[in-house]
Amino acid sequence: MTPLQFDLSGLAEEAVLALERRLEPAQLQDLMAGSAVLTGPLEVQLSVARHGSEASFSGTVAGEWELTCVRCLGPARQRFRTEVQGEAPLGAGTLDATEEVRQALVLALPGNARCREDCKGLCPRCGGNRNERVCACGS
Ligand SMILES: [Zn+2]
Ligand SMILES: [Zn+2]
Repeated sequence: MTPLQFDLSGLAEEAVLALERRLEPAQLQDLMAGSAVLTGPLEVQLSVARHGSEASFSGTVAGEWELTCVRCLGPARQRFRTEVQGEAPLGAGTLDATEEVRQALVLALPGNARCREDCKGLCPRCGGNRNERVCACGS
């Protein structure tokens, strides 16, 4: 069982099942492949519907992650919430949403994370962190 596998054996035809799971960061280490570090639990909420031998699902994934600030390269923590959806065959009686959740997280990664709104960034001349002190290099 992966942490994002759900039992669908009780899901009747045309019924909708609401699923919820809270995952600790330790269970998700591989999910982000180094592009971000999850710093809090991941809340996954899915609504699953059955259509014959197929299940389709949609829902939300929310949590907190630590990215790299594009200006000063320091840690930038953010809360996030994104949507996830997918389809899966019902043959095994379980739904594994790992890949869909992973893709949703990758798509939700911001390309311009900042540690704070007014981050002053690094000095282009000496590389000093201008959030921490006024640069003495004269730039
Ligand atoms: Zn910064
Ligand atoms: Zn400087």
